Amino acid sequence: MRSTEDTIVAVATPPGRGGIGIVRLSGEHAVTLATGLIHFSKLPLETQRATLAEFRDPQTGCVLDEVVVTCFRAPHSYTAEDVVEVSCHGSPIILRNLVELCLERGARAAEPGEFTMRAFLNGRIDLTQAEAIRDLIESRTLYQARVAAQQMEGSVSARLKPHKQVLMEFIARLEAGIDFAEDDVAVMNWDEIGARLDAIRADLEKLVEGYEFGRIVREGLSLAIVGRPNVGKSSLFNRLLNEDRAIVTSTPGTTRDLVTESASVGGIPLRFVDTAGIREATDEAERLGVERSMQAIADSNLRLLVVDASQPWSEEDTRLLGKMHPLGALLVALNKSDLPAQVSPEDVVWHAAPGGVEVAPRLQVVRTSALTAEGIPRLREAILELAVPAHDTGAEGEFITNLRHQQLLKESLAGLTKAQRAANERVHHELLLLDLYDALRPLDALTGATDVEQLLDIIFSTFCVGK
Ligand code: GDP
Repeated sequence: MRSTEDTIVAVATPPGRGGIGIVRLSGEHAVTLATGLIHFSKLPLETQRATLAEFRDPQTGCVLDEVVVTCFRAPHSYTAEDVVEVSCHGSPIILRNLVELCLERGARAAEPGEFTMRAFLNGRIDLTQAEAIRDLIESRTLYQARVAAQQMEGSVSARLKPHKQVLMEFIARLEAGIDFAEDDVAVMNWDEIGARLDAIRADLEKLVEGYEFGRIVREGLSLAIVGRPNVGKSSLFNRLLNEDRAIVTSTPGTTRDLVTESASVGGIPLRFVDTAGIREATDEAERLGVERSMQAIADSNLRLLVVDASQPWSEEDTRLLGKMHPLGALLVALNKSDLPAQVSPEDVVWHAAPGGVEVAPRLQVVRTSALTAEGIPRLREAILELAVPAHDTGAEGEFITNLRHQQLLKESLAGLTKAQRAANERVHHELLLLDLYDALRPLDALTGATDVEQLLDIIFSTFCVGK
């Protein structure tokens, strides 16, 4: 177990050369270490101010770099410990040298995420906030970043806090009722318990449901593009990417390199899945390839069947539509809309459900032209409408994006259900208490523990049991 007493050091900027590179120190000796290695024209170091200084070779006294140092004193820092950040010029050699000198003088190399872990261990942030920092760093679209930033500020914890408060209050009152039975403490009535647990449950359920959307925001969507050769799949793909990355060719059947680029659609990262090779297989190897492609297509969140609408509907279109349609959400792009149309949206619906027997679920048809960009905005909208359930889910902080959070919320809900049943059946308070703890504990794991002190505070402050 690594010690939290150590002063830790790491290069905080990505590897490679750049304009600047930052070495970050955190811990009790951060300031002494920095002032021992870096020459300042005046000491002590001012806090939360950038100070120009020189990093000199300790042996020769030669100046190695001109640096800017920022010092943050505990607890007003990222880790809530003393933190020093040294901005050097972004030369890997200089940065490594500075880190090595710190190590020689007693600092320890930080483990991945250790600065943030200290912020958590020192109580500056809770777990959801620590996770949000990671999400923010990993975000690929501005929208993802905004959601993560909201959570970093504690939006998830803020939303859960009132619920935890109610549960704690119940627990406190029941504990008080049990422990101080003689002292006629007001133990609330069953109906009140039932009603308030109901309200908590409704909100937690909403959060759990919102995860479906949150997951998509965080992880992005996969979209499989399917269609006959030469219908304009690569061209559409490029349009969605907004740049010319895939190779577009006008020779039918030319094997395209499998492109797995991502584009941002409505702030959600969209990953394109290759679907080359779902034609009729002629041999065993090809059959296996086709199977794998089909699996990838089935696993995608959404499928886009591209049809060349300037040509008559073909057998192959029917075959592909027949394969795609049962897999779930399906978009059909009637491409080349700049040319005279030979296929209409009605044709597609008819082929999807011959004779109109069964109305196609989650099927949308959009006319597009990869050449003129006509219909591309509509295509983007349709992608979101089809793949993202309730993508207008309120404000950024209103949903959870993390599987761990969803599981804990479900556990809490299970506890609430038991507690509600217990309340309905008017069981003994002690049993109800156990269920309430079961509901509270997962929320604690999510946002940070409710400590015994807090509970005792409630017991002893809001009820005068002391007499
Ligand atoms: P893929 O084989 O399905 O990937 O099709 P490509 O994207 O390679 O396009 C095949 C040919 O159709 C190329 O010559 C494109 O320029 C052309 N094409 C693609 N989309 C359109 C469109 O919307 N309108 C017109 N007129 N031509 C298009």
